[in-house]
Amino acid sequence: MYRRSLLAIAKLRVLSLLCVIALSSLFSVSTFAANSIDGIRVWPAPENTRIVFDVKQKPDYKFFTLSKPDRLVIDFTDTKNTVSLRSLAVNDPRVKLFRSSVSKGKTRLVLELTKSYQLTVFPLAPAGQYGNRLVIDLYDKNRSQKNVSKPKESVGDIIIGIDAGHGGEDPGSIGGKGTYEKRVTLAIAKKLQKLINNEKGMKAVMIRSGDYHVDLNRRTSLARDKHVDFFVSIHADAFHTPKPSGASVWVVTKSRAESELSRWLLNREKKSELLGGGGGVIKNTSDSHLALALADMSKEHSLGVSFGVANNVIKELEKITTMHKKTPQNGNFAVLKSSDIPSILVETGFISNHKEEQNLIWSKHQQRLADAIHNGIKNHFMAHPLTGSYFASVGYKKHKVRSGESLSVLAKRYNTSMSKLININGLKSNSLRIGQTLKIPRTG
Ligand SMILES: [Zn+2]
Repeated sequence: MYRRSLLAIAKLRVLSLLCVIALSSLFSVSTFAANSIDGIRVWPAPENTRIVFDVKQKPDYKFFTLSKPDRLVIDFTDTKNTVSLRSLAVNDPRVKLFRSSVSKGKTRLVLELTKSYQLTVFPLAPAGQYGNRLVIDLYDKNRSQKNVSKPKESVGDIIIGIDAGHGGEDPGSIGGKGTYEKRVTLAIAKKLQKLINNEKGMKAVMIRSGDYHVDLNRRTSLARDKHVDFFVSIHADAFHTPKPSGASVWVVTKSRAESELSRWLLNREKKSELLGGGGGVIKNTSDSHLALALADMSKEHSLGVSFGVANNVIKELEKITTMHKKTPQNGNFAVLKSSDIPSILVETGFISNHKEEQNLIWSKHQQRLADAIHNGIKNHFMAHPLTGSYFASVGYKKHKVRSGESLSVLAKRYNTSMSKLININGLKSNSLRIGQTLKIPRTG
């Protein structure tokens, strides 16, 4: 079976090769090469540089490295290069120079490097706006050390991981007027970063801070390395017709979280630290039921926080933009998959809608969106502060209920609302007990 299909593929290859030869004899010119390099993009990032070659057809290539000085050499068989190499390396810290030579139809590209890097080279099939590509990733060798986690200092800051969707080679959705989602998400992310860093008790960590690609697994592992307490991923929606509009907020589906969870449990020795507070116990217990229960608690907690923040962010977004969905949506986004870190994904509007595309590139509207996300996150953590956080110490005054005091009396006295008191104290009804301690928000 296997052999026969291989044979079939081989036959197909021969056929397609014959076709190419037949076509090439029809269209051959003196500088004929079957393939050509038609574009080269260089995306420097903090930990790596991605170099992308646009090639007309599936690339036939070989590569090797040389040292003293460090170089990467790529030979493209039967390929001509049409791209000017002169200024390609100008903004990159890892590649000093691109140069090329041609012999027997083969184009040799030499990348002169500043030092030796860990590298991966792989072809990509046509996708979206792109045709065939060859991708080279140069990774810093001390990449993992750079992000070695150091224990969070006990200043009580809540660390908010801000993930600007897409980036670099991946533009995300593209609006009718040519707006790239990756630019909108980064602009909003930067505004949100500023708001959070100006807020006492909160600190922002940017998962991406420039126009480069960070792969999805790396996004969550960065969040873990940086001890992120809450993760917000920013995107803009798109549809194939221009009509849909409005914002929506997504949380991870339970089933996704569950399948991730079962994966973790399979190799919990290695990954137990991912499960937060229960990690130490999970590692040391052979009782799989206990391990499951602990992991479950951590997951439930994380889903609860995700929903809590999602609801608060929706409340704020409603004030400044139309909503596509008025309740948190269950999503299956890879970037939300780490159920150990509470996360939301905010679709800030439809880039495929003409009016919203205009809004999304408007700095003032981006600011409003950032404000709404910031307020939503803050409101949640003020009402449900994490143990030991700054918000836990300042978010509330305490009030011990005395005889004759009702919820409405207290709401009036403290210039707040009954529903807010019910919400932040997790009350099941309007009735209070004498001696009961209530949390009272400092700002109405
Ligand atoms: Zn997106």
